[in-house]
Amino acid sequence: MQFKTPITIALSKGRIFKDTLPLLEKIGIHPLDDIKTTRKLILDTNQNNVKLVLIRATDVPTYVQWGAADFGVTGKDVLLEHGGDGLYEPLDLKIAQCQLWVAGYPDADTHVRRLRVASKYVQSARDFFHARGQQIELIKLYGSMELAPIVGLADVIVDLVETGNTLKANGLVPLEFITDISSRLVANKASWKTKHEDCKKFVNALRDVIEQE
Ligand code: AMP
Repeated sequence: MQFKTPITIALSKGRIFKDTLPLLEKIGIHPLDDIKTTRKLILDTNQNNVKLVLIRATDVPTYVQWGAADFGVTGKDVLLEHGGDGLYEPLDLKIAQCQLWVAGYPDADTHVRRLRVASKYVQSARDFFHARGQQIELIKLYGSMELAPIVGLADVIVDLVETGNTLKANGLVPLEFITDISSRLVANKASWKTKHEDCKKFVNALRDVIEQE
């Protein structure tokens, strides 16, 4: 695949990077550096015009929104928190799949007034409870959310669940399903217009690969 214009793709290290590289490889794009050892944040690829930038998952929508990257790959959980301003979401990559749940002790009553909810996903948590007209007290955390009900910081948490093993190991269970989550390809709205031919070519090639998976 050849591109006429420079294309920058923002990825985050970890699960998304690991699952996205094989997809890029299948459409003929791979980084030139050894990704296991490199400390570079901008990676050249075998395609002259394609660069990868490695950033935090939560920064991916921001880089793409402001045009510092033309494309990005990030979780729907991150996009729901960001709000999606300035972004197109042309493709569900169907990788890093999991679900967003309200979780807590098996006997927790999730319908009480002023339920105390701890989460990294405050926007999603607020939207879920507000949609059913329930007032909650929201406590923003950045990790280890399972601890919050155990130490009495919150009644329940809102967190990503894949196998449920992390909840189980801490004596907690999924209580209420919120939404399915997977990684999405996002595109800068201006790039989509000014580099339309290359953008369409990239998205169509990725879509073909995903449909064959
Ligand atoms: P599990 O024990 O398999 O249910 O995984 C739950 C833990 O992994 C939680 O700490 C989640 O925040 C994290 N997790 C699960 N799936 C994902 C995902 N797709 N992206 C990021 N974190 C995830």
